[in-house]
Amino acid sequence: MRNCPRCNTTMVEDLELRTNDGLGICVSQKGLFGSAVGKVSCAVCPECGHIETYLENTDKVKKLANK
Ligand SMILES: [Zn+2]
Repeated sequence: MRNCPRCNTTMVEDLELRTNDGLGICVSQKGLFGSAVGKVSCAVCPECGHIETYLENTDKVKKLANK
């Protein structure tokens, strides 16, 4: 469970950021052939509208951190 860093309300999680043409957004390594690290999920505060992004699966980030 995430609380809003601005007003401490419980945030609505497991939402998705999309471009206007409906495609999701992902994090990947730099460069033309950089491999994908994960799909971006987001949580939104129902009170103030603050948006927080996060990766649902952090396995690949952990591997990069341990390089
Ligand atoms: Zn808030």
